[in-house]
Amino acid sequence: MIPTNIHGLGPFSLVGLLFMFAAGSALAAGGTVTDPAGVAPDRYVYYPGTEALAEDEIRVVACGTGMPAARRGQAATCFLVEAGDDKFIFDIGSGSMANLAALMIPYESLDKVFLTHLHTDHMGDIDGLWAGGWTSGRPNALRVWGPSGSREDMGTKYAMDNFLRHANWDYMTRAAMIGPIPGGIETTEFDYKGINKVVYQENGVTIRSIPAIHAGDGPVSYIVEYAGLKVVIGGDTFPNKWFLEHARDADLVIHESFMGPELMVKFYDQPPQLAWRACCAFHTSGQAFGKVMSEINPVHAVAYHFLNEEGTRYRLYDNIRETYDGPLSMATDMMVWNVTKDGVDERMAVSAEDAWAVAGTSRQQPPDGTRASEYTPFILQGRWDEGAQPAQKEMLDEFAEKYNLQDQDWRKQMK
Ligand SMILES: [Zn+2]
Ligand SMILES: [Zn+2]
Repeated sequence: MIPTNIHGLGPFSLVGLLFMFAAGSALAAGGTVTDPAGVAPDRYVYYPGTEALAEDEIRVVACGTGMPAARRGQAATCFLVEAGDDKFIFDIGSGSMANLAALMIPYESLDKVFLTHLHTDHMGDIDGLWAGGWTSGRPNALRVWGPSGSREDMGTKYAMDNFLRHANWDYMTRAAMIGPIPGGIETTEFDYKGINKVVYQENGVTIRSIPAIHAGDGPVSYIVEYAGLKVVIGGDTFPNKWFLEHARDADLVIHESFMGPELMVKFYDQPPQLAWRACCAFHTSGQAFGKVMSEINPVHAVAYHFLNEEGTRYRLYDNIRETYDGPLSMATDMMVWNVTKDGVDERMAVSAEDAWAVAGTSRQQPPDGTRASEYTPFILQGRWDEGAQPAQKEMLDEFAEKYNLQDQDWRKQMK
């Protein structure tokens, strides 16, 4: 098992760590292979879908840890928190859905989203979750929690209502073809000014919010409590007093940590006039992140919201170490933390590039056919049934027989 004070440096350094352990402490790497034909212990990686959660354990998976500018190697903000039988998605930033989908979790369980704020690098992949789940078996509407804003048009309800407006063609056509219920979004907007107020409480899980200070009124951070454990999901923020007070002594504290202005100029192509404000006026610098963590003293700290790669991570790590010497992960996508009363273990998830949706126990209703078609006669007259239907007839007849679909044959209804 990787000790908690080894900072996470991504898959490359994981290989380095294995060599390090191989040199003298094989047990620390997960155990000893006693039988040449046996299996190797694998506790330094997490294979999604293979480990049941203990009753008094929280698992957190980073599905996005990067920046608004898209890159293949690192998505924008998203953290999955698993506690008991429930799963909670904290932010669903651009690109993060592919990581979330690789965790072998049925879409029916990926139906609760908590937004820290409404920048697209924190909610940009809501479309993939919404439509992907709709087409992959989620039987119910998506549930989204998020803060109000200083005006109605700056709140989560406005954002979600207008997301559905922007996706109207998608909604109307899928509602007609699949069924409307999974295409709904039930939004719970709460007061962004609430200080440690409960925004969710079910099945032993309590989620509270505190205000964050970032680019305008509205952003929040979340505090998750379960089985006597406390996990804090910090949204984008300048260091703030609410965080210092309410994240104190938590088990796992996730907080943004921005690359310094030199790195923002060099790697992010920002003008210096923007770089030194972006890092340090409406986000949190490495040094300030370290100061926050030294104040609140978590069991384990997680830094995210930076481009985690060879050219950047050591500089930022050194910045943080100027002010904090406690347990620390430099987060990258697919990093996993298991949180128990015994401490926090950090690993990397290993998952399939081409992951499939996983079936759960509930079933989506089949299309009921009563909803009006979104076709008009004009477009239907262009169908080439006389060519396509004979070509696929045998295959579809066999399928209809296997699943008893003869009395609801769409081919008859089309005519
Ligand atoms: Zn932001
Ligand atoms: Zn952000």
